Amino acid sequence: MSNPVIVVENLSKSYRQGGKKIEVLSELNLSVAPAERVAIVGLSGSGKSTLLHLVAGLDHADSGSVKISGQSVFYLAEPQLCKLRNEKLGFVYQFHHLLSDFSALENVAMPLFIRGVSKLESLELAEQMLGKVNLDARLDHKPSELSGGERQRVAIARALVTEPACVLADEPTGNLDESSAAEVDALMLKLAEELGTSFVIVTHNTELAGRLDRSLKLHNGQLVT
Ligand code: ADP
Ligand code: MG
Repeated sequence: MSNPVIVVENLSKSYRQGGKKIEVLSELNLSVAPAERVAIVGLSGSGKSTLLHLVAGLDHADSGSVKISGQSVFYLAEPQLCKLRNEKLGFVYQFHHLLSDFSALENVAMPLFIRGVSKLESLELAEQMLGKVNLDARLDHKPSELSGGERQRVAIARALVTEPACVLADEPTGNLDESSAAEVDALMLKLAEELGTSFVIVTHNTELAGRLDRSLKLHNGQLVT
């Protein structure tokens, strides 16, 4: 079997609040194979977002390790960590987090600009990726000029344009009406398959979770089947 894109081992994380320690993740383990699509479900407050933050190296764990394509994220200096994130991971959040002053095309090209790809090539690749999410006709629209579903499709294009090993999606359709959500979910699954990208999707939608390769529940700080 080829090497996993994400390996989480014995990951523990607690928060301190008013002198009280709340353990959110406790010796959690997770391994995601190339092109594998994993759903993470669980009650609100169970630690799903905390887990994705730690996987991306955006927060510190109490103990344990996270490896992205074999590289330990916890011991990297910030510039190396940013590079790893930019090269290996894509992100989609519940709220699109697109830059409001920029067009859909520029938003999708942004991770490539950051990577140092030329402007012309970045815009060309961004246009291709927007085609894959059926937004050829919306290239010059600003986020405020797009529907909720269209904004999430732009966010998906932005996450995939760098050809990451894995996309981390935190309730990507949690803010959409049912039919837009279904459309965005279907597109995400189709692209995951077409591009061979691993996806870890936090969702409350059990129907979507059932269509992925694996569905895990975050419960008492651990992932269970
Ligand atoms: P989920 O995404 O599953 O809804 P979260 O990962 O956001 O859950 O939160 C898990 C738990 O950790 C919750 O009880 C939340 O209140 C707590 N928590 C999250 N972030 C912080 C923080 N920065 N400080 C203190 N407690 C936090
Ligand atoms: Mg959350």
